[in-house]
Amino acid sequence: MPAIYSQIVFDAETRRRRGFVWFSLRLCVSASILFSLVSSAFAAEPADWIWSAGYVITENPQHRVIENGAVAVRADRILAVGTRAEIDARFTPRQRLDRPDAILAPGLINTHTHAAMSLFRGIADDLRLQDWLEKYIFPAEAKNVSPEFVRWGTRLGCLEMLLGGTTTFTDMYYFEDVVAEAAKEAGIRGVLGETIIGFPVPDAKTPADALRFTERYLARFRNDPLIVPAVAPHAIYTNSDATLRASRALANKYNAPLLIHLAETKKERDDVLSQRRMTPVQLLDTLGVFNGRTVAAHCVWVNEADMAILKSRGVGVAHCPSSNTKLASGIAPVARMLALDIAVGLGPDGPAGSNNDFNLFEEMDLAAKLQKVTTFDPQALPASAALEMATIRGARALGLEKEIGSLEPGKRADMIVVRLDRPNAVPLYDPISQMVYALKADDVEDVMVNGKTVVRDAKILTLNQVQILAKAREYRERISASLAAAQ
Ligand SMILES: [Zn+2]
Repeated sequence: MPAIYSQIVFDAETRRRRGFVWFSLRLCVSASILFSLVSSAFAAEPADWIWSAGYVITENPQHRVIENGAVAVRADRILAVGTRAEIDARFTPRQRLDRPDAILAPGLINTHTHAAMSLFRGIADDLRLQDWLEKYIFPAEAKNVSPEFVRWGTRLGCLEMLLGGTTTFTDMYYFEDVVAEAAKEAGIRGVLGETIIGFPVPDAKTPADALRFTERYLARFRNDPLIVPAVAPHAIYTNSDATLRASRALANKYNAPLLIHLAETKKERDDVLSQRRMTPVQLLDTLGVFNGRTVAAHCVWVNEADMAILKSRGVGVAHCPSSNTKLASGIAPVARMLALDIAVGLGPDGPAGSNNDFNLFEEMDLAAKLQKVTTFDPQALPASAALEMATIRGARALGLEKEIGSLEPGKRADMIVVRLDRPNAVPLYDPISQMVYALKADDVEDVMVNGKTVVRDAKILTLNQVQILAKAREYRERISASLAAAQ
């Protein structure tokens, strides 16, 4: 073959080969684009929301904290929790919220309060419990508490709670059906107990009336996605044995929790000891009150045998450190309860003189410090245990640990974003230490409850804040006038 000819043939052959390679390459690229389009359409899972943050505190069983983490949410549930890269690769969200300079954590759980009493905030301070109740609170309630009072007071309480990162609150008050309506309007989760008490009160003349009222309330809200209706006999010292037993029976009929104040003061413990020869905890156990889900607030004056009963009966304890210190009630042996693995949550209790606010950041901080100073042991209640009480252990106290209290797939989407760009937030070495000892309720930026954003950029989306504050001031005038007229 002449050289020139062979060169032409070679060139033609090379061009043909190159063309084939080029064609093949284009085919591969087109196929891979098509594949990724098809796979993103079919394999990427839809989500309603992705929330990402610099740190995600999960409070899962391994207590995992994820740097550059994210949570995917669909409807009212958490779909997945992981690094932002993992979550972004797996899900296509309809909306997203990225907060690189913040902590994303489970919503805080309040296990004991009286939200509507916010309208009595600061009405009488610096008193012992019995004086405060009998000389101020019970008379002020008798003159002022109505369904409208409860509606505005609960709105005010829910406003403060949501802005401060509380996503579930546990309440004991009158007209609890109105509390439930106001909580649903605010978009906050509630374990809400109708009070049963042995003297005439604004919504019932007798305990029998109160039990009838409570039964209607339980029937109305028993299948609500946000509300767990409950039965709340006020305390041993305000109810007969028969009423306490009837409250338990009613709670069990509707599979509802029972909420009660228990062993709050030395006086309560001493009176029961001298009159019944039992401790308050032993008395409730003997009456069968613990035969079902129970949340007992305070449990300050409990001994080793009492704590063994609380543990064996699975009673949830609502520790209220601000209230116990302000009323000089005492300091609950929480470190010992935690050593026994009792389900202890945190509560701010009443805003009307026993605290006077709904700030779970303060309760975490104080709970940790009180146990240290009483035991002379700085490890007695570390930051991790305090945050656990405000989240997953609090959920256990309420019997809701399968639904709330941690950021885990399948749980309800209740979560908060806490900003890290203020002087009290920097520098950060340990996100859990920061949550308990440095961050404030004011640092909460965004809040989601049951998959719905209720606070965004520290502004409430569900309630009319201006109107609520104006109403609270208006009530102050009415309440002051009613007390002045009585004197
Ligand atoms: Zn209380």
